[in-house]
Amino acid sequence: MPATALYLVTAQSLRLDDNPALSAAAREAAHIVPAYIHDDSRPRRLGGAAKWWLHHALADHARDLARAGAPLVLRQGRLLEEVEKLVAETGARTLYLQHDPTPGMQAMEDALHRWAEENGIVCRRFGGHLLFDPVEIRTGTGRPYSVFTPFWRACLELGPRAPIPTPEKLSAPNDMPATLPLEALGLLPKGVDWTGGIAATWEPGEAAAHKRLDHFIEAGLKGYGHDRDYPALEDGTTALSPYLRFGNISPRRLFARLADIAAMEPALAQGAAHVQRELGWREFCWHLAVARPDLATRPIRDDFTTFPWQEPDTSDLKRWQTGQTGFPIIDAGMRQLWQTGWMHNRVRMIVASFLAKDMLTDWRHGEAWFWDTLVDADAASNPANWQWVAGCGADAAPFFRIFNPTLQSAKFDGAGNYIRRFVPELAALPDAHIHEPHKAPSAVLRMAGVTPGITYPLPMLDRTMARERALAAYQARDPLAG
Ligand SMILES: Cc1cc2nc3c(=O)[nH]c(=O)nc-3n(C[C@H](O)[C@H](O)[C@H](O)COP(=O)(O)OP(=O)(O)OC[C@H]3O[C@@H](n4cnc5c(N)ncnc54)[C@H](O)[C@@H]3O)c2cc1C
Repeated sequence: MPATALYLVTAQSLRLDDNPALSAAAREAAHIVPAYIHDDSRPRRLGGAAKWWLHHALADHARDLARAGAPLVLRQGRLLEEVEKLVAETGARTLYLQHDPTPGMQAMEDALHRWAEENGIVCRRFGGHLLFDPVEIRTGTGRPYSVFTPFWRACLELGPRAPIPTPEKLSAPNDMPATLPLEALGLLPKGVDWTGGIAATWEPGEAAAHKRLDHFIEAGLKGYGHDRDYPALEDGTTALSPYLRFGNISPRRLFARLADIAAMEPALAQGAAHVQRELGWREFCWHLAVARPDLATRPIRDDFTTFPWQEPDTSDLKRWQTGQTGFPIIDAGMRQLWQTGWMHNRVRMIVASFLAKDMLTDWRHGEAWFWDTLVDADAASNPANWQWVAGCGADAAPFFRIFNPTLQSAKFDGAGNYIRRFVPELAALPDAHIHEPHKAPSAVLRMAGVTPGITYPLPMLDRTMARERALAAYQARDPLAG
């Protein structure tokens, strides 16, 4: 049994439960040194909201690890250099880590592996971030899938392996290496603190993930198939995306809990299968990201490489970012994002369609804004979904399907409760007028204290013109490329 092992905690593995790398280290080594190395040279530097989550999830995980018997060591710097130092300090002969499928990480992990081999150290990489290894799911001809339904069918045929329990006990060596204080990693905003709304909305960490799941099973699972499209509903969806992003809960644990519930309570089986299918979309996004490491920068469909996106007018982009477009459902969504670090899926689709199609702005600008402001900002799900909405992605919504924000709003937020929550200046408008305030009769506006163009912006564009412009651009894209 190796005396001491180094277990590398990553920003995707912040949990004790169903953690194959940690469990293997606990089983195989006499002592474990868990270490998180904050390396800003890793591919896709984290955005502001994600850094906030990481800070608090690290604090939570450090408490859990210490309680289990092996306190967390924090370091900052180049991954390989810091591992070298920790190996020298601890005498560890084995390295355990969860594989990070983020594009570009493979090269860093391979370099670590090579260094370990050259120095007589065993480096063991485990899965854990996904239900399946993204490269194990292949079409009949051995290629990656580009269509979701057959992909998910292949996944279900294989079936994810069962989750593994939390290790009973961890044992640290007597002489633990020194750790940096968490604050030294600089994950929280410097200067103006804009995280108040995020802190009021979320409780990062492993126990909070399971608490949220238990609550959702009680309050939301039965109606999920219908309720998931209504952004005003508190428990319409799981709200587990940031927990999955940072590994506070494992997808296999979630999948297995849902399977158990479906078996025990047939009334919940449909909702459970539907949430599992959404997890399938998460898998599909990672499947795409691994097959196409340039997913965040290059359209999957070649006929979009020369698409005539308009260079965005900075003030228009700012109006979209800050929720001042004059389209209430879009402004509610963008303000929810800014205030809470999260946006409902239906509204993500509406605001993304508006940016890419009505504003004809390159989807990469929207993807970058989401990357910086989402607590669940994910290197696969974010670009894959942006490409899906913009029409240039895999199995994508056709470009000519342009969401009408007003109709979407009336359909999915009919009583305007979501709008009232995030656009309070429209709160006193009656339901019939809240989706298009500028068209409300002046007496109604007066009663509600709304003056279009003064207390709430007029629509920033004419949708009929915008729709025609988008369709013309689509027709004019390079037909030879597609
Ligand atoms: C433009 C755009 C950008 C997006 N960016 C991200 C992102 O950065 N990170 C992210 O996790 N999701 C992203 N999504 C997908 C989806 O909006 C969120 O996963 C979902 O809203 C999270 O809420 P939830 O946990 O309550 O979801 P639920 O409805 O409860 O679904 C359960 C889980 O399934 C997964 N899931 C659900 N829908 C999708 C989907 N369309 N694609 C991938 N996984 C999905 C998530 O992990 C989610 O937590 C994006 C969607 C769009 C349209």
